[in-house]
Amino acid sequence: MKEKMSNIRVGSLFHGVCHGYTYDGLGILDTKEGLSFFVNGLIKGEEADVEVTFVSMKANYAKIRKITLLSQDRITPLCPVATACGGCSFQNLNYQKQLEFKKEKVINAFHNIAHIKFPVDDCVGMDEPYFYRNKTQMPLGLDRKGRLISGFYRAKSHDIIAIDKCVIEDKKASGILTTIKGLMTSMKILPYNEDTREGIIRHVLIRTSFHYPEVMVVIITNADSFPSRGNFVKALKKAHPEITTIVQNVNKRDTNVILGNQDNVLFGPGFIKDDILGVRYRISAKSFYQVNPLQTEKLYSIAIEKAQLTGDEVVLDAYCGIGTISLIVAKKAKEVIGVEIVKEAIIDAKNNARRNDINNATFYVDDAGEFMVDFVKSGKKLDVLFMDPPRKGADERFLASVLAAKPNKIIYVSCDPATLARDIATLIKSYKIESITPVDMFPQTFHVETVTSLILKK
Ligand code: SAH
Repeated sequence: MKEKMSNIRVGSLFHGVCHGYTYDGLGILDTKEGLSFFVNGLIKGEEADVEVTFVSMKANYAKIRKITLLSQDRITPLCPVATACGGCSFQNLNYQKQLEFKKEKVINAFHNIAHIKFPVDDCVGMDEPYFYRNKTQMPLGLDRKGRLISGFYRAKSHDIIAIDKCVIEDKKASGILTTIKGLMTSMKILPYNEDTREGIIRHVLIRTSFHYPEVMVVIITNADSFPSRGNFVKALKKAHPEITTIVQNVNKRDTNVILGNQDNVLFGPGFIKDDILGVRYRISAKSFYQVNPLQTEKLYSIAIEKAQLTGDEVVLDAYCGIGTISLIVAKKAKEVIGVEIVKEAIIDAKNNARRNDINNATFYVDDAGEFMVDFVKSGKKLDVLFMDPPRKGADERFLASVLAAKPNKIIYVSCDPATLARDIATLIKSYKIESITPVDMFPQTFHVETVTSLILKK
């Protein structure tokens, strides 16, 4: 290793061929000595002169100086700041190749982490892989000239890159943000500065409903009120009659977490509604709700189809959020139990059940692992388990209890192939994989969602 690195330093130049991608979408190319470097914006098959920017025992990085052979798969990004912004990694890669990258990523995770070779389905993509996000969440700040900007953080930093029109977000959001910036400037309302802790408005969150003409705007502030609040709300409503509710969320903490605990509804009901596969949900400022409505329907349809429910099953929906999967499944099963750690989400889930006249779903606030331990102790029979944990996956206690509860089927919905593969490596002791289906919930980014169907070994 030492020998290989001896003549490579930060600032060194070398030429190479990109032969693949890291899990997070950086191009990989090697020096003649066989040392690998990760390069943002380089596409598989391309040749480039690159400059070394960082060298360590763990990972080496370089940046493009000049691409000497362009790939036919390279396309012009729709967004002018696509390479600088930390949001999209793949706007320069044609969509078919993005889907192939995502399938490959799932195959590699199963192979490298779980030592499992199983045929992975093609990644289920979108017809129009832009303007899909129903949620925009942007920090506000001042640029060097003191102009108000909103945008995203540069990858691995807290510098805001100004974005006027984000091409993966619902088109309604950018116009509303432009108006908000205009109002803040004319009313002299300052954005919050993380370093000096001065200023008031930290973030703006906009949620749009896919099925109804409803839009929620959440103004996240560092103080209980802000100057000209009443006039601000009036002017915003007037400029955008499509806004149906405005909420102020107060977050006075010095933290990366965007939303604080306190919500003040400034206009409208404080929530919007939306449908997924015929079930109606109320979404408030803090609710977890899938961000890509079209793909969510595909994701859930695949998950439910794989479960092959007959109507007689007891189903557990672990990590259920506001009960999205539970309530769709309830129509096809005897009984559904949902468990989720966030209290507010369970309140939403119960209300959603009531409003949709669903009477065979019960919801519990609990850690999924602890709940499973108690469930096994209760001796109750479980037929089908849906699990949709956050990125860190399930914990050992949860998995051990699942092995003890022995549901006939497990449908594991995952947003991180690495933790998915790790967890499946445990479940495989008693389960056989039936199918692995990646779904592209986040076009233009390196993220991929996967539905894995497992059946109990007889
Ligand atoms: N199935 C839902 C939510 C999936 S997101 C949907 O599709 O909308 C994962 C959920 O797991 C989040 O709602 C999060 O609050 C919850 N969660 C995180 N850690 C948990 C734990 N230890 N036990 C139970 N739920 C947890």
